[in-house]
This record gives sequence, structure tokens and C-alpha cells, in this order.
Amino acid sequence: MILTARVWSGRGHPPPGRLEEVPLRVERLEGGALLLPGLTVRHDGDEELFERADLRFDPRRGGGPTATPEHRRDALAFGVVNTAHHLSRALARATELLGRPLPPLVAVVGAHAARHPGWGGGHYRLPAESYSTLPEEEPPVATGEIHLGAGGRLVPLDGRAYLHTASHDPAIVYHEFGHHLVHHTADLRCNRRRAAGAQTNRRIPLDEGTCDYIAAILMGTPDIYGWHRAGVPSYSARRRRLDAPRTMAHFVGGHLSDPHADGAIWSAALWAARCELERGGVDPGRFDAVVLRSLERIGRSGDDLPVEVAQRRRRRFATALEAILAEDEAGGGDLATVVETVFAARGIEVGTANNESRWRARGGLPAGIAVGS
Ligand SMILES: [Zn+2]
Ligand SMILES: [Zn+2]
Repeated sequence: MILTARVWSGRGHPPPGRLEEVPLRVERLEGGALLLPGLTVRHDGDEELFERADLRFDPRRGGGPTATPEHRRDALAFGVVNTAHHLSRALARATELLGRPLPPLVAVVGAHAARHPGWGGGHYRLPAESYSTLPEEEPPVATGEIHLGAGGRLVPLDGRAYLHTASHDPAIVYHEFGHHLVHHTADLRCNRRRAAGAQTNRRIPLDEGTCDYIAAILMGTPDIYGWHRAGVPSYSARRRRLDAPRTMAHFVGGHLSDPHADGAIWSAALWAARCELERGGVDPGRFDAVVLRSLERIGRSGDDLPVEVAQRRRRRFATALEAILAEDEAGGGDLATVVETVFAARGIEVGTANNESRWRARGGLPAGIAVGS
């Protein structure tokens, strides 16, 4: 059945967009869950949210501390509906660009609220033996789950406070969707070679940067976190604007670095290439298809290599650039010159390890330093 859903548009207006009503194809309403083709979105509790086939809920400014129980329930139902709309849109676009559907996706709204009520972020989880933060009480389904926290900070929206709960923010929903896509295509951590219940959820810069790019193309803006990070300076790595002039000179690397900040170099290079191609009259959707299909190409490569070697290769921005160029070549190769030029200006070139690119971008290697991966 097709129902009318009220959601934040995520597009055509500064994030989170405008409140708008959109059609949503739903297979079933089940108490606190919406079942859509290839997608289940539920909240983590027993409360009935969908007694009527009407998905037009008031967001109630996120259901902050002063909300009544009824308003909090509206905010929760809005979060489930908003998440379902954006995930179903993202899945449809990915199917179009990849030429195949992704495996089914489960999203849980208000996850971890019992033990961590203040958590307002999101994560994508696969079943693992242990979790570095926010342990899972039940193992996530094998195809992967998005968990969105119920908490959050109060942030301004139209001059008034709004509880920034993850399910209300299209950018967070799209970013976490990106992890589902990257996992089922590039498989950057070689999870396919691990036991089904012993997957890794540790993310690397290439993964985080690709997820921000996916959010940006779905939202049509480079300032995807412009709502809840409006107070963060525009070109700070924490803002993660894709139109920031970030290059490999900003790369930190290593276990103590933030993969989101390092990934912002990759997302900015992708965005710059997309804009440059568009200026030259290329439909940006063509480049998006090349980028998504290049992820499949990465996932198909290196299966004959020892797992550590394959993983090390998949950490490199250069590997992803090579896959983009190979995918472009398979389609005629007319994007390569622009792509290579834009990436080179950011310090990303084929055949180069991330650390080496960083030193080159900073003006050369200190004498006597050997370059690792
Ligand atoms: Zn979780
Ligand atoms: Zn992420």
C-alpha cells in the first residue's frame, strides 16, 4: 500500500530541509515497525505507534525534555517514518546506480536507549565477537543493522531548540546507509573472509568518506551536517563539509586518528571531481554510478591475496581512485582526465600509499623516514 508520510525533505533547503508529505510504499505496519520492500524500520520498545494507516506525525521538535509523553510518542513515530523514507529512497537510488538491489536492511530507532539514553548518534553494526563501544545485547542480523540513538543535543532550528535525535536527521540516516552499501560492495575490512558472527565494525577513512559522499549526493548539498554542526567553523574537519579545501596534507592516519576527519579528504576529492565534471557538462549521476560501481570492483579484487595484504590495499585512497578510473575506462574513459587532475590537486594519485601521499602533499619526506602503507 502507498501511504502519505511526513518527513524532513533533506534537500532543496538547508538541512534538515522542509517538512513535506511524500508517498511511501509500505508492505505492513506492525505496532512499532514499518515493513517496506527490502527494509524494516522499527523502534526499540513495545509502544504501538502505527494503529492507523496514517504516517503524518508532527516531529515535535525531536521530543525534547519539555515534551509531553504524547508529543514524545509523536516524535518517535516521526523518527521511524523519516528513517523509512530516507532509507527507502537511498536503497532505490543505489539499486539504480549499481544495477542490482542491496541485501535487506534493518534500522532500529531509539537503539541503546535503555542503557545509554543520551546517545543521539548512529552506527552500522554487523555481528561481532565484541564491540568497542555500545555493546549489542542481541547480535545484529547478518546483513547489517543501522542503529539510531534516541538522545541528542538541543540545537537551533528556525530560532528554537530542537532535540537533535539521529532519526530526524537525513544526513545521519544517509551516512549510516552508506556503511551498508560499502559493506556489501567494497567490503573494505574483508569481512566476507571472517566468520559470520565475528565481523569487524571498525571503520577506516575510505569508508567514512564514501558514506559522507553518499549523504551529499542524496541531499544535493556539500554541507550535510550543516544543521547540528552549524556552530562548527565551516572548514573545520569536524564540520565535514565536502566543499572544504582538504588535501592529503591534512591526513593524520594511524590508530589514534579519527577516520571521519581523514575520510573528509576523500569525500572532498570526490565532491570536487563531481562539481568539475558537472561544470564541463557531465551529468553528475554518471559519476555517482562510476563511484558506486568502483566499490563493487574493489570488493571483487584481491581475493587471492593474504587477508592482511588485501586489507592494507583497501585502506589506500589510491586503490579507490584506481577502481574509479578502471570503471570509467570500462565505460569509455571520458571522465579520467578531469578525475585524475582533481584528485592530484588533493594529493591523491594512483599507486601511492596514504602516508606517502601525505608526506608528498606536505612538501616531501623527511630524510631517513621509510614509508609504510
Ligand atoms: Zn547498536
Ligand atoms: Zn560512519
